[in-house]
This record gives sequence, C-alpha cells and structure tokens, in this order.
Amino acid sequence: MPVLQRLKIYNPAGAVLTQHALNLFTTMNNTLARFLALAVLVTATAGELRAWDYEGHRLINQLALDTLPANFPAFAKSPAARERIGFLAGEADRWRNTPELAFKHCNGPDHYFDLDLLAPAGLTPSQLSPFRYEFVTQFEKGRAANAQNFPAIDPLKDSDKTKALIGFLPWTIVEYQAKLKSAFSYLKEYELAGTPEEIANARENIIYIMGVMGHFLGDATQPLHTTKHHHGWVGPNPNAYSTNYGIHSWIDGGYIQQFGVDTNKLRPKLRPATAITGPSTNFFPTVVNFLQDQFKQVEPLYELEKAGKLSGRRELSQVGHDFITGQMLRASQMLGDLWLTAWQQAPPDMFLRSALAKRKSAHESASPTK
Ligand SMILES: [Zn+2]
Repeated sequence: MPVLQRLKIYNPAGAVLTQHALNLFTTMNNTLARFLALAVLVTATAGELRAWDYEGHRLINQLALDTLPANFPAFAKSPAARERIGFLAGEADRWRNTPELAFKHCNGPDHYFDLDLLAPAGLTPSQLSPFRYEFVTQFEKGRAANAQNFPAIDPLKDSDKTKALIGFLPWTIVEYQAKLKSAFSYLKEYELAGTPEEIANARENIIYIMGVMGHFLGDATQPLHTTKHHHGWVGPNPNAYSTNYGIHSWIDGGYIQQFGVDTNKLRPKLRPATAITGPSTNFFPTVVNFLQDQFKQVEPLYELEKAGKLSGRRELSQVGHDFITGQMLRASQMLGDLWLTAWQQAPPDMFLRSALAKRKSAHESASPTK
C-alpha cells in the first residue's frame, strides 16, 4: 500500500481520513479536487469539536501525574491508577459519540469557550459570573441586546440546542476542581473512621475525577477551543488565515499522529506542581485567565499554519512542533497544579465526620460490653 494511504488521520467524528485526503485539501490547486477533499473533511467533522484526540489527552494526564510531589497520595500514582487516569482522559470525548440529544446538549459545550463571542454580547471576561447558570442568563441578555451581532440560528441544524451557547469550559474545570476537593475531603474522613471498603471507594472516585477532569485542561490548551475561529477563520480575514474547516482535526490529532511526541523529551520541561494559593478558594478568575492565555495563541497558531510550519506535507518544523507540544505541557502543568491544590486545600467534611462518629457510637452501644 502506498505510504500516503497507510498514514491514517483520526478525525473528530470518529471516522478515519487518509493522509491523502488531507493532502488533497491542503495542497492541490485543482479547484474540483479541492472542493471534493473539503467535502470529505466537512462531512466527517461537521458539528464536532474535540481536542488532542485520545493519545494527546492521555499524554497530558500522565505528564500531569509526573508533576505531583512525592508526598501526594500514593494510590493516585500507582501503575494501575496511572493507566486508569490515562484512559479517563478520553472519557468526555467518548461521551460525545452518543446519539442522545439531552446528553449532547449537556456535555458538548463543556469542551470549549469562544472568548471572542463575549464582546459581541457586550461582555468582558472579568464580568463573567462564576456560577454556570447565572452566566447562561447573563450571556442570553447580552445576546438579546446585541442581536445584530449574532447570526440567526437554523433550528434544523441545531438538534441538540447548543448553537446559542458559546461554551462552558471554564465552569466545567472549576466544577471538577470542586468535585475533586470534595472527594479528598471525604476520603480524609473515611481514612480516620471509615471501613476499608469506604476508603477504597473514595480513592476510586478520586482517580475517576482526576482522569475526567484532565480532559478539560487538555481542551483548554487547544487554542481552537477558545475561539469562534474553531474550524478555520471566519468573518473579516485581513491576514488571509486559513479558512480550512479541517484545521481543527489536524491540530487535534492529525499533526501528532504524523510527527509524534516524545514524552521523554517533554517530561524534563515540566516544573513540579505548585498549589494555587490566594485569598479565595474561588478558582474561576484563575481559570478564566488561563483560558485567555490560550486564546492569545489563536493568531500565532494561524500564523504558523500560514507559514507552513504546521504542515503535514513538509519536513517537521521545530517551531511548529514546539508550539503544539508547548500547549500540551501547559495543560499538564495547570492540571497538576489544580490536582495538588484540591488535595492540599480540601477542608474537613464535618457533616460526614459527625455521621461517622454517630455510626461508631451506635455500633458500640449495640455491641454487648464485657
Ligand atoms: Zn473535549
């Protein structure tokens, strides 16, 4: 089989595109061939948004584990937990394969946040409510007051009713951070007064939350998950950036699949995790700032693409490779910091403590005394 046909590119819709199809799209001057290749890509990717395909997300989660200090709970760093946390990096994208519209509606927008659609609604990042549902109202009001800035939504193309949403990624991250903190809180109580089964279950929950949460940090550092230009540049385009719909799936996974990532070269670039400290345990502003930093990488990404430095048709560009892997490292770094913070800052679960104490005394009074 020719090399071109053997190189497969995983695309966000779960189908497999050949490298050849992508090459047709990116390089051929023949208008018809270009149109056909585009049709293949659009058909395969329409309406989907993923970042870093499974391999990339898995790598981010496992590199994040490497940033944790020696005294971080050992159960989360065992070989089995490492494998499970790696596997769970893909969980939230597996959920996207569902035909269930209610689940698509709930899960889909958790994976992105189009920061450049705030201004058209008259909002700035610093005005955002840290409460997810309050933000929904906030954005809807801004959208209604600035309706001229938003194209009409075709209900026939909006079966899961997500087109009016600009994403919830920062809320999702903050909510998972809180879930993890809660799990560490109850684990600490079970370790003091629970049964071995309760302790084991609490530990399993922590591994699960760490793994699923990691997915969303990975999404956050794929710059195309922070912008309306997620599938090619839209609207005025003075810099003539790519309008190629397939750019998203290429950055998500095609690029890494073609050029590879050497984990052993990335690991030394990570600093040890540091807890996020501050006067408040509200991480929302920190996460929004983090998203804004990734948004600043949108134009550099399009510049690199324009300069051929992210091209799969040319020799590997070190600049392009450093850009992609640098974004993955940013995800691992922030994820490690959030995991560490959740563990260190988890407060005592006083409700559970009292329930366990009552259970213990009830048990003692029911037991015959000698
Ligand atoms: Zn995702």
